[in-house]
Amino acid sequence: MPEPALRILKDIFGYDSFRGRQSEVIERVAGGGDALVLMPTGGGKSLCFQVPALLRSGLAVVVSPLIALMDDQVATLGELGVAAVALNSTLTAQAQREIAQQIQRGEIKMLYLAPERLVQPRMLNFLQGLEIALFAIDEAHCVSQWGHDFRPEYLQLGQLAELFPTVPRIALTATADTRTREEIVERLHLQNAERFLSSFDRPNIFYRIVAKEQQRKQLQAFLAERKGDAGIVYCLSRKKVEEVAAFLVAQGHPALPYHAGLPYELRAQHQKRFLNEEGLIMVATIAFGMGIDKPNVRFVAHLDLPKSLEAYYQETGRAGRDGLPADAWMAYGLQDVLMLKQMLQKSDGDERHKRVEQHKLDAMLALCEQIRCRRQALLAYFDEDLPQPCGHCDNCVDGVQTWDATEPARQALSAIYRSGQRYGVGHLLDVLLGRENERVRSLGHQHLAVFGVGKALGESEWRSLFRQLVARGLADVDLEGYGGLRLSESCRPLLRGEVSLQVRRDLKPQHTAKSSSSAASQLVRAEEREQWEALRALRRKLAEEHGVPPYVIFPDATLLEMLRSQPDSLPAMGQVSGVGARKLERYGAAFLAVLGGEAPAPKVVADIRHELISLARAGMTPTQIAGQLDCSEKNVYVLLAEAIGRQQLSLEQALDLPAELLGEIQDAFLDGEAELPTAAALAEQFSGRVVDGVLYCVRAALQAELEV
Ligand code: ADP
Ligand code: ZN
Repeated sequence: MPEPALRILKDIFGYDSFRGRQSEVIERVAGGGDALVLMPTGGGKSLCFQVPALLRSGLAVVVSPLIALMDDQVATLGELGVAAVALNSTLTAQAQREIAQQIQRGEIKMLYLAPERLVQPRMLNFLQGLEIALFAIDEAHCVSQWGHDFRPEYLQLGQLAELFPTVPRIALTATADTRTREEIVERLHLQNAERFLSSFDRPNIFYRIVAKEQQRKQLQAFLAERKGDAGIVYCLSRKKVEEVAAFLVAQGHPALPYHAGLPYELRAQHQKRFLNEEGLIMVATIAFGMGIDKPNVRFVAHLDLPKSLEAYYQETGRAGRDGLPADAWMAYGLQDVLMLKQMLQKSDGDERHKRVEQHKLDAMLALCEQIRCRRQALLAYFDEDLPQPCGHCDNCVDGVQTWDATEPARQALSAIYRSGQRYGVGHLLDVLLGRENERVRSLGHQHLAVFGVGKALGESEWRSLFRQLVARGLADVDLEGYGGLRLSESCRPLLRGEVSLQVRRDLKPQHTAKSSSSAASQLVRAEEREQWEALRALRRKLAEEHGVPPYVIFPDATLLEMLRSQPDSLPAMGQVSGVGARKLERYGAAFLAVLGGEAPAPKVVADIRHELISLARAGMTPTQIAGQLDCSEKNVYVLLAEAIGRQQLSLEQALDLPAELLGEIQDAFLDGEAELPTAAALAEQFSGRVVDGVLYCVRAALQAELEV
């Protein structure tokens, strides 16, 4: 690797060596060639274009579809001392003009843009008048019509090849399959693109899939081992999201709901809190996740089954971007299978489409019932061969017991058949177990030959067996799709006695919460805990002051290395991976002080909140509170607004505004249509008269009133 690239890596980013194929990609792009980069989440795609951008002269243009993602990267680069900006629709016209001028003066190194903005003729024109270092096209799979994330604007990016023939372009994605890959090259008109493919394995993720019995209890047991960790709990329906979130809160977990049915503002607020605070649990539908770049998500738990392995891989992939141990945990049961199969049957769409979806669901189910290494199975689906079992999934660690279910399976299939192929598992169980209840009697099913033949097995074993029969396609959901079971073609050999059937023995729930010995929450040993918390508290304080998420100051991996290597001087601190020159200068001393035990641990946010409310109630102004708590005024306002929203403070307690002015602001908020405008929307109108923070507070009070 050429020296300059390594120097940039060390000086700016604070890392010692490149990972995987990063250095090859960088060499290619820095040398002016086009590249297609496929790397899993957390693989380190950003450096693949950020380093060449710094090596080449001119402006680097980065296309990204998600505003949240752009802001995150811009903030991260800002902390590293790299001049980066994002142009997006949330900026005022004035702000946009200023950015354009800065760019023209050559003061900006990286420009982040949404695709639709880049392809505007005015923008292309503007860029053609400048020296361009490279174009990076992130989330490049959005150009594919086959994927879920298709964005028509991406198709227009092909014209960059003609408009900027000498500028290298690099397309990046974490989507694996071959068809998408070739579509990207073709549609983006990449010239002789060199393809850089990496393994899609995520070695730091521990996979576990358990049989669903009492899902709340199981989830609780799982979470009990992960106190203080941030994670995502995925549920299928909005209703369930709300219920599970409420349940977790009642159990003392810091959980927030997220789904598309919540008001936009609330959703945005929850997402922001998830990014900015530590240890929050987001209970969410799949509406949550796209563009969540939080590197220290320690677990992803599924309470419902994803529709495909692609979805499962993507959702679980949100855990452990930072490369530290993380868990992917799922509870899965018969109801999941039935529900998804029913949804599939009832969905519109042509037969071909349904068959594809069915095929995808079958692959997902096969992973759930897998008796060999889960990682091998998962990667095999993406055409990647892992020669040895991974040793880092439940099946590898616990081993899998199977049992011969040939005879009970025949009994079960025969119960389905003889009762007319229309009843659900509950009723079939009554028949097999010989429970002569009212429903059984009214149907005359106590006279069936299979009545009571299944007493050798318990109810949960039967359920497990039915689940596996459906998962393997030996039984199917009935055509009306109400959850009744019918036989499928493929069960005939079994019924005729030509084949036998081995199935998984489900583990008892108490075994199913544990992860590997390197459980994520055991990142830090007990004796290190105190200093770890002190480092995190300092990071949190700095993050609040800078208005960025904590991981933008330093990722967990860097804090962990500080903890382990205990640097005792600035040069030693500079050796820690992730501490670049700029961060060393800005933060080195503060973190050294915490390690040396000199500085008192800064106040944590929870304490600040508490104190702030008392001070406001006692009549202090925001400025006085900021002085007292030693934090910025902006933060005081944000926390005040939060407290008002939760009705812990009244507006009068928080602010001291002349009644007239207050009335005027309230009118301005209520002037619009149904929805309250954002504080930012009114900022210009009141600029010079009140600080933005006042608007946050007034808005929070109105919102709280409107909600009751
Ligand atoms: P991706 O975009 O592929 O999901 P990122 O570019 O966000 O991944 O990188 C994931 C994490 O790994 C980031 O915290 C990044 O700083 C870190 N990282 C990337 N490359 C290296 C490297 N060569 N050495 C150490 N850390 C790295
Ligand atoms: Zn394994």
